[in-house]
Amino acid sequence: MPDVLSFDDPKAVSAAIAKMFSEAPLYSQLVYTDKSQTETIPEAIQLFCETCDMDTNWDTNVWNANYRRGFGETEYKCRNCREKSVTYFYYWGKAVSPADAFLFFKIGQWPALEERIPRELKKNLDRASQNSYYKALRCRNQNLGLGSLSYLRRVVEDKINAILDMIAEESKQVGFAAEHLAKLQDIKAKGLFKDKIEFASVILPPSLWPGGHNPIDALHDLASDGTHHFSEEECVQIFDRVRVVFEYLFREIDTRRRSASEYAASRAKLASARK
Ligand SMILES: [Zn+2]
Repeated sequence: MPDVLSFDDPKAVSAAIAKMFSEAPLYSQLVYTDKSQTETIPEAIQLFCETCDMDTNWDTNVWNANYRRGFGETEYKCRNCREKSVTYFYYWGKAVSPADAFLFFKIGQWPALEERIPRELKKNLDRASQNSYYKALRCRNQNLGLGSLSYLRRVVEDKINAILDMIAEESKQVGFAAEHLAKLQDIKAKGLFKDKIEFASVILPPSLWPGGHNPIDALHDLASDGTHHFSEEECVQIFDRVRVVFEYLFREIDTRRRSASEYAASRAKLASARK
């Protein structure tokens, strides 16, 4: 049974429903009470558009039905290209309990929830890891949380030494955790998965902490043996947190490497031009 949220602001209700449309697995439930009595679906949601190759706003005709009255269907269209659209089937109405609460969940959508691997990550995964990552995303999108974590753990375990190398390289450049970096080869060769995660957390320089928080902390749940005791929905929440960090590390480090090599190339070009 999911937690019951409480809202009193129509904007907060719209944001929660929009998030359910754009991200939630099918059948995953939002149960909430609402003093604002918001009854219409959000006018716009955010999704990745393949045609535009970025996240865009997608909108719908709210006057066309779509109220909090049980089963419904609606279409959202990319506001940018007006080409791509997605259709959702959902339930939005009274919850069974508590009696004053409302319930929202999706029962279908077409095209299916995206199973996209960001470019920077994809080029760092071999075919077997890509396959596991797609399977992890597919399980997640069907609310099979435990399955999604098993596949994701396989990919992260496979890439953890590469992640440690990438982080170590960045730490060296900024002169961070020098006394720990000496142990890198040893941990890579002999460390258990959870030791490697712990080590990654210690050597990650603050330049890679978005919002001042060490993002590696989110990976600890993946290494814990406790995942078997979590519900499917808790597993999906862990999956979403780990996925964000995993993709963030590859994206950030890739960008830094690229700008460093572009910088080196332009320096070399300048130097040869001076000769
Ligand atoms: Zn578009």
